[in-house]
Amino acid sequence: MTDRYAVIGNPVAHSKSPQIHAAFALETAQDLHYERLLAPLDGFAATVQRFRSDGGRGCNVTVPFKLEAFCLAQAWSDRARDAGAANTLDFRGEGIFADNTDGAGLLRDLMVNLGTPLQDKRVLLLGAGGASQGVLGPLLEQRPAELVVANRTPHKASQLVEKLPRRATGTRLTGCGFGELAGRNFEVVVNATSSSLSDELPPLPNGLFAEDSLAYDMMYGKGLSPFLRFAQMQGATRCADGLGMLVEQAAESFLLWRGVRPSTRSVIDSLRSP
Ligand code: NDP
Repeated sequence: MTDRYAVIGNPVAHSKSPQIHAAFALETAQDLHYERLLAPLDGFAATVQRFRSDGGRGCNVTVPFKLEAFCLAQAWSDRARDAGAANTLDFRGEGIFADNTDGAGLLRDLMVNLGTPLQDKRVLLLGAGGASQGVLGPLLEQRPAELVVANRTPHKASQLVEKLPRRATGTRLTGCGFGELAGRNFEVVVNATSSSLSDELPPLPNGLFAEDSLAYDMMYGKGLSPFLRFAQMQGATRCADGLGMLVEQAAESFLLWRGVRPSTRSVIDSLRSP
């Protein structure tokens, strides 16, 4: 019997996850089928339960259901607990296990694909929504010298930082508004706001990018975003979009479900080719 998986979201038609998981399954010789499921905004739990009783083995969860996915589970990985949100559910035994692979996906893209270690670096995370919530703990674990979360609504950045379980990393971790970034610079700047989706640029000050810095926009698939254009003009040495993160977080889910890590390079390359 072919094992069934799915990505559940609303909207979900744009999701590249079926293509990514089909490539992983082919490469690792796993017998599985992966589909898209559109859940009504008030019907996430029912969609999961139906898929599960129809034989589904697990699912990815995308906007806007990551918090609901977390609450639906009976067991959680540490990284899902830290995030308070889940993007991966595994239907094991009687219960549902929740994981969050967004942070691991971002880290693998930054550190392995882009060759950018974070230890002792000054790192800026823009945004305090679901994506930032998922990646903040994993970023902190890399022990940057400084980790600043800046958000349009400043108190959300402070809350995100305050809520994160503390570990003795030695990192200076703070939350603030964009205005407080004036006069500061960073070696890695990650845009986890959704501003690029509406072709907007967060109000960032000049001089934000240190020498030899990396600008990373989690958004993907729309060409050079306003944030990456700004970063280039401001002298960021390297720019990357979030396609690598997308494929790497999928690989991490695949590993959880199937016990085998697929290779990602060729999948990233094929998604980038026109
Ligand atoms: P949320 O809706 O949860 O959060 C949106 C965040 O963006 C908030 O912090 C919001 O600030 C901020 N924001 C929105 N518009 C603007 C603007 N015009 N200027 C400045 N800040 C703005 O979204 P997510 O966190 O789920 O997603 C964020 C981005 O990350 C999206 O582009 C998404 O596609 C991408 N993403 C990519 C992934 C990948 O694998 N590559 C995985 C997950 C997400 P405020 O609090 O003030 O409203």
